Amino acid sequence: MWQSWTMITLWKRILIAFLLAVLIGGTLKAAGLGTIAVDAQPVGLVFINAIKMLMVPIIFTTIVSGVTSLHDSNKLGRLGVKTIGLYFLTTSFAVIIGLVMGGLLEPGAGITLPDPGLAGGNAPDPNASISLRDLLIGLVPSNPVAAMAEGNVLQIIVFAVLTGISINMAGSKGEPMRKFFDSATEVIFKLVFIIMELAPFGVFALIVWVIGELAIDELFSLVWIVVTLYAACLVQIVLVYGGLLTGYGRLNPRKFFRGIIDAQVVAFSTATSAGTLPVTMANVERNLGVSSQVTSFVLPLGATMNMDGTAIYMGIAAMFTAQALGIDLTMTQYITVILTGTLASIGAASIPSAGLILMPVVLSSVGLPLGAIVLFFPIDRLMDMMRTLTNVTGDATISVLVAQSENELDMAVFDADPVE
Ligand code: ASP
Repeated sequence: MWQSWTMITLWKRILIAFLLAVLIGGTLKAAGLGTIAVDAQPVGLVFINAIKMLMVPIIFTTIVSGVTSLHDSNKLGRLGVKTIGLYFLTTSFAVIIGLVMGGLLEPGAGITLPDPGLAGGNAPDPNASISLRDLLIGLVPSNPVAAMAEGNVLQIIVFAVLTGISINMAGSKGEPMRKFFDSATEVIFKLVFIIMELAPFGVFALIVWVIGELAIDELFSLVWIVVTLYAACLVQIVLVYGGLLTGYGRLNPRKFFRGIIDAQVVAFSTATSAGTLPVTMANVERNLGVSSQVTSFVLPLGATMNMDGTAIYMGIAAMFTAQALGIDLTMTQYITVILTGTLASIGAASIPSAGLILMPVVLSSVGLPLGAIVLFFPIDRLMDMMRTLTNVTGDATISVLVAQSENELDMAVFDADPVE
């Protein structure tokens, strides 16, 4: 039985697990046995821990070996500029889509905002405040081991890039280090494949648990917000990513989406794009033919700074609050939301609920009260799942486009059916 199960390709197994979970979780909930569904959580947490375990080693080793394979420092600089430019572009689109969909579907109309005692204006949550200055200072780790222990992805990236450059500079003396990191990368990817065998079970448990936890009454009154977010994320995925792939890359979007389905399902069920990173990397390299040089640089950076689903959420939260208060935002306020929404999504950690925690930054930047946070809280997980799926899809899209422009995309692999 185990053998015939493992014969099915992984993405199909994950999808089967997902659908079964919806069915079983839904039935348990409908029968009033939601608490049994909640009991599935430990299995899901084991899976989340297992994929998180891979995160730091995979980021560090793949970036070092990616940089050591890029002897040409011009190429490294070019990759950086292209990647960050495209990330900013898609994220600004995302906030605008959030604002437009929020305006069209009006999720805040007729809703009374609770007063959580948090003022708007100049009083954002101190933990949530981000400034460009802090972001820049925080880029350089004072202690790389601490950065790894804390899982601070941006700091790990900086340390890894510098290590890679130093290995290149050391010439033949650095050769053993280069080989070591190449071999370490191979080994870590084997570990990813072992852990991915757990994915169907992890996904099953996580989805059953989420359904068990859902407060159906609350969901009912706020269902329109969830619908608005899902619709806006779909617009971003189909129009922005699909459009970029087809219009700019002249690539078949169906092949693309089929190739990253594992990463999408894992992102959806775990709600962490950093945690999903190993799966995204494996999918993009093996199914889409992006070279490891590109994935090792573009994807870890994307997992931390490119969060289009989160940016959409910021736009919707602002529209929602304005509608609940019956006020129209001014042009300056819209522009401020686009800027702070983009910045907040860059600053947001790629972990569950990070978007919710950073929402005050955006709302208070335009003087809106923070009541939406209280309303969004019980349904945040449901929205977080779709945000994370969008975040990961955005990273994968940019990695394919950057790879193509650098001649690092293997079209034979892209066009072929996905491998395990
Ligand atoms: N959970 C999201 C992620 O990891 C961030 C968010 O809360 O929007 O990508």
